Amino acid sequence: MKKKTATVFQLDKIESRKSKIAGMGAFAIKPIKARSKIGNMTGELISTREARKRVKTLKVVKMVEFDERLALDATHSNSLSHINHSCDANCYIRLIHHKVEFYAKRNIKVGEELTADYGETQHEEQLKCRCGAKNCRGWL
Ligand SMILES: [Zn+2]
Repeated sequence: MKKKTATVFQLDKIESRKSKIAGMGAFAIKPIKARSKIGNMTGELISTREARKRVKTLKVVKMVEFDERLALDATHSNSLSHINHSCDANCYIRLIHHKVEFYAKRNIKVGEELTADYGETQHEEQLKCRCGAKNCRGWL
């Protein structure tokens, strides 16, 4: 896979650090404006069939299924793949033309952890949610 630099979109505004939610997280190191595009999550475009096979062997699942045919394996990706799930997220995801785009839902301040609601893109298996939001659904 080709390595992408942090110059695309606003990736220079985020940094990966250890998160309180889970593993690594993505944190704002510069303010990010509401509704602005942060960037695309990179990864390997693979068939959905291959994706389902890989999911069984992975500990940390970073797989996005677009449709019956294609999926993105973001195991080797950019800092956007470190964005954790939150039921009260400050970012949102758009799946478009087999790309995973991240946008700011509201203004994000320096030091805030970026979160997205993976509710709709996550796999069916249930994972306990540790986002800590007031409106937490408890499960992914
Ligand atoms: Zn939650």
